Amino acid sequence: MFRAILFDLDGTLLAPAIDFKALRNRLSIPPGESILDWVNALPEEERECRMNTLVEVEIEAAHRATLLQGTEQTLEWILDHGIQVGILTRNCQEAWEIASRRCSLDGIKWVFTRESGIPKPDPRCLEPIMNEWDLSARDIVHVGDYLYDLLLAEATGMYSILVHPTGINPFQVDCHFVARDHEALLGHLKCLEWA
Ligand SMILES: [Mg+2]
Repeated sequence: MFRAILFDLDGTLLAPAIDFKALRNRLSIPPGESILDWVNALPEEERECRMNTLVEVEIEAAHRATLLQGTEQTLEWILDHGIQVGILTRNCQEAWEIASRRCSLDGIKWVFTRESGIPKPDPRCLEPIMNEWDLSARDIVHVGDYLYDLLLAEATGMYSILVHPTGINPFQVDCHFVARDHEALLGHLKCLEWA
């Protein structure tokens, strides 16, 4: 029986608004490298400069943020059923605040941005959430759209759902279910057992 749902933000609740390929080019980050890890490993001055650019891009995207179709219905069902819900994102806090006001997500109480601690997929990023919720990873359904989401869910033992428009998992890490959209996601959530 599950007790909580943890969502990724970009590409999971919000329509993708950042062109990551262009961002990588702008920051000179090779494909396949984690943007945050790569920037964090730079010498201080360079790191600060690239991090400012990253934040700029995130904030600009947040001002254009839109919900993925069906997100409102998914969240409504979750809240109606008294299921604990949170968001864990690698995005910065300021971008979250802008996007959440714009998309009326600001009612979600538990939000963990990259200022909250270690970013995913490091399993330690889950610690502040589990402390707040007093739950174990096995109680949580994780919903995300990217490899890091699958890695985190696998490493911690959360039930793992991938939202991917193709309806198939293109990553090398398994998940429990692939939803092509929120309609499929909500249909699956309704089939799971909730405490
Ligand atoms: Mg995402």
